[in-house]
Order: sequence, then C-alpha cells, then structure tokens
Amino acid sequence: MEKKALRKLVFASNNKHKLEEARAILGDKFEVVSLAEIGCHDDIPETAETLEGNALIKARWVKERYGFDCFADDTGLMVEALDGAPGVYSARYAGEHCSFADNVNKMLREMEGKENRKAYFATVIALILNGETYTFEGKVDGYIATEPTGEGGFGYDPIFIAEETDKSFAVMAPEEKNAISHRGRAMRKLADFLCD
Ligand code: IMP
Repeated sequence: MEKKALRKLVFASNNKHKLEEARAILGDKFEVVSLAEIGCHDDIPETAETLEGNALIKARWVKERYGFDCFADDTGLMVEALDGAPGVYSARYAGEHCSFADNVNKMLREMEGKENRKAYFATVIALILNGETYTFEGKVDGYIATEPTGEGGFGYDPIFIAEETDKSFAVMAPEEKNAISHRGRAMRKLADFLCD
C-alpha cells in the first residue's frame, strides 16, 4: 500500500539539534521542514526583548517572505544568581558570533564561587497557521554545574543539570532530554494543538 504523504510544516530553524528534537516529537504526524529546505538562508534578526517577541519575529519573517505557515522557537537560560541573565541574550552571551564553548566558559567564570546555582531554561514557540498566531511555552528547572559533563546536545547542555534527573542534558540520550526539556515540553503542547 502507498504511504500517505505527511503534511509539511516549516520549523524556522537550521539548528540540526533542534530539527532532530522537533522531528522526534512531530515526525510521525508532520514532515518538519527546515529553513534551508525552503531556500531561506537569511540571518533573521532577533531584536525583541522577550522570547515570545523573537519567536514571533522568526515565524512572521518566514510567513511574510516565503509564504509558508510555520513555527519558530526562542529559548533562554535564566540564572537566578545573575538576575535572570543571559535570558533572551543566551545565544550571544559571550559576544556576537561566539561559540557554544565561549558561552559555557563565560557562564562558568561568572558563576565561580556562587552558592546559588539555580537556573531554568524557557522556550516559547510561535505558530502561524491559517492566518492565526498561537504561542506555546515550556520550562525546565535545574542548576548550573561547576564543570561541564557529557558530549551530547548543544549550547549550555554540558553545564545544565536538570533537577528531575540530577545529570547534565549533555549526558542524556536525546529522547531522555526531549522528555523533560523546555523545548520538548513546548513542542508537545504544539503537537497536541496541531493533532487535536
Ligand atoms: P535559541 O534562540 O532558541 O537558538 O537559543 C538561544 C541560545 O540558548 C542558543 O544559542 C543556545 O546557546 C541556548 N540553548 C537553546 N536551547 C538549548 C538547549 O536545549 N540546550 C542548551 N542550550 C540551549
């Protein structure tokens, strides 16, 4: 029997880790399509001061310029002892065009000697579908480790210890991270909405 084609849904991202996460959660219902796959190589400006604002900018950019319904996410790491920093600036914490390792090293330096290591990741997903806009949120509590552990994941994963598992995201298998992560939680809300 011929396999039925899945409905396409653009995820406004070219981050391969995020695309893998999205496909693991939505993949049996949707064909999750990256920006590169729709021919978008734009450096979309993330100029808002909130996660929701940036997610909306990215989703609207794709809808307005490429015509596709789509969803976009924005994530921040909020560290209590740093008054919520780096938050919406998590990607460029160590400066424009910095690497994940630069950000991790800066965080370890800023947190040196701090007893309160509480932090959380938050994600907002913005969906544009049939002319309507929707948002979905996910959050995971944890703390900042004193040194990196693990090789998996990306970004701050080697130094973010999830409260529920007491180990870093970078040592977890992808499905274990997805089950409790900020983006996994937001993505499942999106999936529930889309599949209702
Ligand atoms: P973005 O705007 O959603 O790409 O996220 C901003 C920054 O947060 C990224 O550049 C990463 O450094 C970090 N980040 C986002 N999601 C994760 C994650 O799941 N684990 C670790 N770091 C993340």
